[in-house]
Amino acid sequence: MKRITLKVGSGVLTENNTIAKQRMLNLVSFIVNLKSFYEVILVSSGAVSSGYTALKLDRKKHISKKVLAAVGQPILMSNYKALFDIYDMDTSQVLMTEEDFDSVAHIEIFRQIIDSQIEHDILPIVNENDITTISEQVFGDNDQLSAHVAHHSDSDMLVILSDIDGYYDKNPNEHDNAVMFKLVKEIPKAELEKPDSSTHEFATGGIVTKLKAAQFMLDKGREMFLCNGYDLTSAKEFLIDGEHNKGTLFSR
Ligand code: ADP
Repeated sequence: MKRITLKVGSGVLTENNTIAKQRMLNLVSFIVNLKSFYEVILVSSGAVSSGYTALKLDRKKHISKKVLAAVGQPILMSNYKALFDIYDMDTSQVLMTEEDFDSVAHIEIFRQIIDSQIEHDILPIVNENDITTISEQVFGDNDQLSAHVAHHSDSDMLVILSDIDGYYDKNPNEHDNAVMFKLVKEIPKAELEKPDSSTHEFATGGIVTKLKAAQFMLDKGREMFLCNGYDLTSAKEFLIDGEHNKGTLFSR
């Protein structure tokens, strides 16, 4: 069975300072469906935004953001647990930092933990552990974390569920005539050096971090698919029906 790592952004999971329960349920039932076809690992953002649903601290302040993440991680996980329980699916919490991928020994432990969970039919839910870490130890965005998770767990593909339908020749929120790329074989170096362009107050990525994740996957001989996480139709068509209608595939 092929293995995929699925990454979902904060925007999909929260709305107006609450957990977007219907979207989360759609995601959960999609993952349950996917598990008949793939081994699945989920990388989920949303700890800070979940924390903000309970506690209104200034998330621009470094320590407040960490407090929000500490408060929000169990809120996020208990929401996932309640929804996966409907389908009788076991989940786990795997918190990682950049340092956890910087030695062969660490990577080996990570791989074995993921393999063992999948063997026992547990869905690993990975997030960045940015609570006590200093900035050098964290990825800062889950796009790059998810690329590392995908590679080191030997996933065939990374699927990023975003607030956008795919990768365009220019920002589609600013240009009506932006055209989506269906297949990207190479990413121009200049695109990888552009500043962050995230659209949500809790997002830390933007398109550039997604392109960096895609570049990492391409360099490792793996693929990435970027598609909409609010409406999972294109993800379902691509991953389950084998039809590529919308969404961008990064592949050599
Ligand atoms: P997420 O919450 O899924 O991580 P982000 O807001 O961080 O999403 O990143 C996606 C956003 O990047 C899009 O909503 C869009 O506004 C912006 N963006 C900038 N340039 C592009 C582009 N060329 N193609 C697609 N999206 C782009």
